[in-house]
Amino acid sequence: MISKPETCRIKDQRMQAFIDPDEIWSKLDNTKADPLRVREIIAKSLEKNRLSLEETACLINSTDPELTEEIKAGARELKEKVYGNRIVLFAPLYVGNKCINNCSYCGFRTSNKAAVRTTLSDEELISEVEALEDTGQKRLILVYGEHPEYSPEFIAHTVRVVYGVKKGRGEIRRVNINAAPLEISGFRTVKDAGIGTYQVFQETYHPEAYKQYHLGGIKRNYEYRLTALDRAQEAGVDDVGIGALFGLYDWRFEVMGLVRHTNHFEAVYNVGPHTISFPRIQLASSMQVDRNYAVSDQDFVKLVAILRLAVPYTGMILTARETAEVRREVLRFGVSQIDGGTKLELGSYHEKEKAAQQNLEKEQFFINDSRSLAEIIDELLGQGYMPSFCTSCYRAGRTGEHFMEFSVPGFIKRYCSPNAMLTLAEYLEDYADETLKQKGYLVIQKNILDLARFQKVDELNRRIERIRQGERDLYF
Ligand code: SAM
Ligand code: SF4
Repeated sequence: MISKPETCRIKDQRMQAFIDPDEIWSKLDNTKADPLRVREIIAKSLEKNRLSLEETACLINSTDPELTEEIKAGARELKEKVYGNRIVLFAPLYVGNKCINNCSYCGFRTSNKAAVRTTLSDEELISEVEALEDTGQKRLILVYGEHPEYSPEFIAHTVRVVYGVKKGRGEIRRVNINAAPLEISGFRTVKDAGIGTYQVFQETYHPEAYKQYHLGGIKRNYEYRLTALDRAQEAGVDDVGIGALFGLYDWRFEVMGLVRHTNHFEAVYNVGPHTISFPRIQLASSMQVDRNYAVSDQDFVKLVAILRLAVPYTGMILTARETAEVRREVLRFGVSQIDGGTKLELGSYHEKEKAAQQNLEKEQFFINDSRSLAEIIDELLGQGYMPSFCTSCYRAGRTGEHFMEFSVPGFIKRYCSPNAMLTLAEYLEDYADETLKQKGYLVIQKNILDLARFQKVDELNRRIERIRQGERDLYF
């Protein structure tokens, strides 16, 4: 047989459904969790290697409590060794909740007649972004339902509006997107507006389960959604975020699906996903999901640790869907980004008073952590983390930064840690009260001392001083 040239073979793999449920189940059913093997796999990951499906299945199948502790310890070690103590902060901003789809877990589903539908006008969008800038946010993810009104041109327009809002010393330096899958031309349009990451969650990787939850609209088409981020890659959007909505199907299958999706990107585009999200399903207006596949807190922590080990170079996002306690716990096992000061109700960021409770008819789902950004930062500092608003790689054209952080020796010490400190210093100067400011600078000083053991820190100290004197947006 004549073998096809490489480019042709790769082309063939694009836009193809790459999930084979039988293959995934057969790996889950036939892989034994022998303790020696589990330890070998953890060691492989600690050597910075991505795990295969079979290796991931082995970790999933190790139910022995001691082995589970070893998996968690491995994930913790990987996070500490490779990424250090930085946690990147962002906020979601819902732009429009009209939707033609009928996802049975979502408050925005088209059949939910109780839902209050809103699309922010430019003025409303500007006032929301100003309110977010007033709290110190620098990175947003814009969220949209799927609707003809939310065309690529509309999305691109809203991105440009957001970048244009400058209030006081505030500005948004990175806009990510969570919206419906687009055609290649549509992805090009939003790329031109300067987006960061484009996220599309597969929700469930199991094709039959997928059909049961997605009752109408374009999203009913499993394959169109599965290949969404291939089209993004074709359009040159190489910063893509994948995710599964945990609680729709067996969590073990979904973890395998996420790893398979990652392998697919690596094989075809030579770059893995920028981020992985693992939302757990929360209460929503008119939601119709039975709890058969609900993921316990214990399994949730384990699955995050397994994902960290399986895909060691990818950013992992944990959102305010989870309680403060769960976030505290899960943060230790490899999460690199969290949201803070989150509000889901459209147009509510500019409201000064915090609502006593959520109004689910105006929001997509219930959140369990509604603490302000300042409260979150305060807690992170208290736990020895370094809150970061860094956007430097994206703005300096260093795309694929998670991979570089991971694979380029010294990258984190040269760029990520100093930039985290510079952006935290800006936050402390512009938005923190005196107590938080003192606490923050103590953490910065301690981190500079740690860094000084490996490299010169004179320039970093100079830049921090320049920020204290009023300069902004200094980065390495
Ligand atoms: N409409 C776009 C789409 O479906 O791709 C944007 C995404 S939606 C506004 C953001 C994500 O929220 C969904 O992909 C889904 O994973 C998640 N989500 C929906 N309903 C949820 C619920 N009840 N609890 C937790 N997460 C939910
Ligand atoms: Fe619409 Fe997205 Fe909600 Fe589905 S998850 S109903 S597509 S907003």
